[in-house]
Amino acid sequence: MITAAGMSLMFFTPIVIKEAQGDGSISRIISSILYGLPLCFLLSAIRKRWLMLTLSGILFLTSFIETMMVVLFRNYIISGNIIAIMTTTMDEGGGFIRSSIHALPYSLPVLAGMFLVVHGARRQRHAYLHLACAAITLTLSAAFILYQLHWRWADNITPRFYITQNVWSRPPYNFFYQASESARQMRLKQRIAESDTMSFHSVRKLYKGRETYVLIIGESLRYSNLSIAGYHRQTTPQLEKESRLMVFDNYYATANLTMYSVPQILTRATATDFELCYKEKSIFKPFQECGFKTFAICCDNLIGYELYLTRGVDRLLSVKSDEEIAGVIDSLASRYEKTFFIVQMKGSHGPYENFRRQDDVFHPNPVSDGASWDDVEAKVNAYDNTVLYTDFCVSSIIRAIDKPESQAAMIMVSDHGDDFRPGTGGHGGNCNPDKAEYHVPLLFWNSVLWGENHAGKLFMAMSHRSIPLNADNIFYSVCDMAEIKIGRQYAREDWSVFSPKLTAHRRLLLVPDGRNHIRLD
Ligand SMILES: [Zn+2]
Repeated sequence: MITAAGMSLMFFTPIVIKEAQGDGSISRIISSILYGLPLCFLLSAIRKRWLMLTLSGILFLTSFIETMMVVLFRNYIISGNIIAIMTTTMDEGGGFIRSSIHALPYSLPVLAGMFLVVHGARRQRHAYLHLACAAITLTLSAAFILYQLHWRWADNITPRFYITQNVWSRPPYNFFYQASESARQMRLKQRIAESDTMSFHSVRKLYKGRETYVLIIGESLRYSNLSIAGYHRQTTPQLEKESRLMVFDNYYATANLTMYSVPQILTRATATDFELCYKEKSIFKPFQECGFKTFAICCDNLIGYELYLTRGVDRLLSVKSDEEIAGVIDSLASRYEKTFFIVQMKGSHGPYENFRRQDDVFHPNPVSDGASWDDVEAKVNAYDNTVLYTDFCVSSIIRAIDKPESQAAMIMVSDHGDDFRPGTGGHGGNCNPDKAEYHVPLLFWNSVLWGENHAGKLFMAMSHRSIPLNADNIFYSVCDMAEIKIGRQYAREDWSVFSPKLTAHRRLLLVPDGRNHIRLD
């Protein structure tokens, strides 16, 4: 039992130190101990002394690292730290060790734990007693997890998500989990490099004349807050004036986090095969293969740093505000005969401050009237002002591409919505999002010339305005909008909104662990 006590001291020191800092939680300490105890007893039951001591030595090292991490950074080690350690230079490593010496005394309990383990290993151990304790604590842990899943979370999260977040992401397991995560990330980076040589084998009929196509990704834009979709407040007055604008009312996001949603809009990746976004090029590639100049424009947001998503575009531009985007498109679309733009807007992300003085219409709001962000009505006022601003920016983009001699079209979707209810974090917080987090607008606009040349596609799109759709449909619809045909192994004709073969889409949502999905319909 001395061995098991030593193991416990080793494993639980970083947990207690972490919870003692800042927002400490007794229940998190207790649950973490419950999850770690079976391993303590299992290791103590090993009869081969050398094996037990070797495994304990490895766990001593990981507990020491975790303790240093929580003292220095208030967090357990994460995969990024492990990659940084593996790629650091001797100088950087030495500097880090010198600057963290003051944290060493906190690891004394870990050292004492290892001492107890070695001491306990000399004596006769009661293997069966340890195994019995392991079985009991394992049963207790399993019962506790079942309780949490079924009652606390009311089956709103998957067991795998819960265990990843609450068991594997805490000591003594966290180090090994993060090591496997960093190996996975390094493997994915290799995939990105390999995707540079892939081709969609895209073809299209020759069209003589100017063409401009745009895919806009909005940010946190809820379907229900657009007056063009029936909202009682006039939040989209400019878009309402567009006679050739179509609103699809049954489109869902495929994730409620930007980092998982945007890749699924831009690539063929889906909630069941998210890694495809690393293996294949994004939507700019078919356009490039057909002779278009391709551009990505962002506001220092996701596509500005997840560079793999646009790697290979002719230019990636970053602007300071959404209202600058239209000018950039205008100048590039008039310079080159055939252009395709990917746009990611700053939009309505919380806190809802992204609007001009002219859009400061709904009051009181926390931005200009000092109201509290906890006041839901005031928060919604600020949000609606950001929608007014988005309305202005998107209609400016339409004006920039609406030229009589140009065949032009635009698709706009939002990455996800937002939940205003008190106590909710906006979006991406759990695995059972409110509809407001994923019911978002899909807009389509076309120039007169595009409409004249594509009467059939326009008719099909009109007839599909209420069919169940999600981000899976975007890649194929954007290609179809420009009459680009991709190779048979990539094509999904029945997933384009312009296709007579389109069917109601089965809507899945990739939950915030980036691996599991839920069904929304
Ligand atoms: Zn987002």
